[in-house]
Amino acid sequence: MGKRTVLITGAAGFLGSHLCDYVLGEGDSVIGVDNLSTGSLANVAHLANESRFQLIEKDICQPFDVGRVDFVFNFASPASPVDYSRLGIETLLVGSAGTINTLEIAHRYDASFLHASTSECYGDPEVHPQVETYWGNVNPVGPRSVYDEAKRFSEAAVTAYHRYHGVDTRLVRIFNTYGPRLQSSDGRVISNLMTQALRGEPLTIYGDGLQTRSFCYVSDLIEGIMRLSKVTEHTPVNIGNPIEWNMFECASEVLAVTGAKVELIFKPLPQDDPTRRRPDITKAKALLGWEPQVNLRSGLERSLEYFKACVSAEAAPHS
Ligand code: NAD
Ligand code: UDP
Repeated sequence: MGKRTVLITGAAGFLGSHLCDYVLGEGDSVIGVDNLSTGSLANVAHLANESRFQLIEKDICQPFDVGRVDFVFNFASPASPVDYSRLGIETLLVGSAGTINTLEIAHRYDASFLHASTSECYGDPEVHPQVETYWGNVNPVGPRSVYDEAKRFSEAAVTAYHRYHGVDTRLVRIFNTYGPRLQSSDGRVISNLMTQALRGEPLTIYGDGLQTRSFCYVSDLIEGIMRLSKVTEHTPVNIGNPIEWNMFECASEVLAVTGAKVELIFKPLPQDDPTRRRPDITKAKALLGWEPQVNLRSGLERSLEYFKACVSAEAAPHS
C-alpha cells in the first residue's frame, strides 16, 4: 500500500501536533490546518524542514478543500474551560460548521475520518465510571454548553455522515490529557498547578478539591487514537487513564515532582464543574489491546522540562 496523505485539523494544538509527529513517523504525509486561535506555531516548529508536512493557516468554519486526502483527523476546537469560555461562539461554530466542513472533505475524497470527541459529552455524570453507552448529564444552557453541546452535535454529525453517506468514521471520547505542549496558560488544572509550583506561587484548588479527574499522558492517548484509526468501529470509544485523582492528590503529585514547597489556596468552584470523571476503558482494551502505560507521577516528570521552559519564557524580558 502506498503512503497516505493525512489531513489533521487543529494541527498546531497540543494533541494535533503530537498526532502530526506520530503520523509522519509512520511515513505518511500530513496537511495540517489551523487558525492558531488556541494553538501555536511553536508546537510544529520542529517540522519546518519536513517535506512531508505543511501547515495551512485556515479557519475550518468556512468550507475548504486541501485536495485529495486518505484520512482525516478532526482535532480543531478550543479545549480548556478558560479557552472555550473566552471563545464561546467560535467553539460552537467549530464543533458544528467546522465538523460538517471537514466531514464534507472525507465524503468528497472517500477518506476515513476520526473525530476528537470528549468526556464532556457525559457532563456531570450519574454513571461512574463512564461507559460509552451512557448518554450523559449535560446542562444545555450552562457556561460549559458551548463546548459540550458542540461536541455532542459533532458526534451526531459524524454518525450521520456514516449512516447516510457511508463515510468510514470513528469517534474517540478523550479524557483529560496532559504533557509537553499543553498550553501553560490554558487554566487547566495540570498547567495551572505545574506553572504555579515552578513560580513558587500557591497552588489553586477550586471548590472543596474533592472533585475528581483521570489524567492521561499524551503518548498513551495518541497511541490509543492511532490504534482506533486502524480498526473499523463507528461508535464512540473512551480513551483515557482510568486512575482517578481528587485535586489534593493531584496537587501532591505536582509538589513531589517539582520539589516546590508552596501552600494550597482555595478559589470558587466554576459553575457546572463536574464532580467526577473516570473512563471505563473495557471497550478500548478489547477492541484495541490498549491501556495506558504512564502513571501520573512519571507523566508529570516527563512534562517538567517543558513547563520549566514555559515559566522561564514568561520571566524573560519582552523584546
Ligand atoms: P488545543 O487548543 O491545544 O488545540 C486545538 C487546536 O485547534 C488549536 O491549535 C487551535 O488553534 C485550533 N482551532 C480552534 N478552532 C479552529 C478553527 N475554527 N479552525 C482551525 N483551527 C482551529 O487543544 P487540545 O487539547 O490539543 O485539543 C484538541 C482536540 O481534542 C479538541 O477538539 C478538544 O476538544 C479535544 N479534547 C482534548 C482534551 C484534552 O484533555 N486535551 C480532552 C478532550 C477532548
Ligand atoms: N481546577 C483546580 N485548580 C485549578 C484549575 C482547575 O482545582 O487551578 C479543577 C477544576 O475545578 C476541575 C478540575 O481541576 O474540577 C479539572 O479542570 P480542568 O480545567 O483541567 O478541566 P475540566 O476537566 O474541568 O474540563
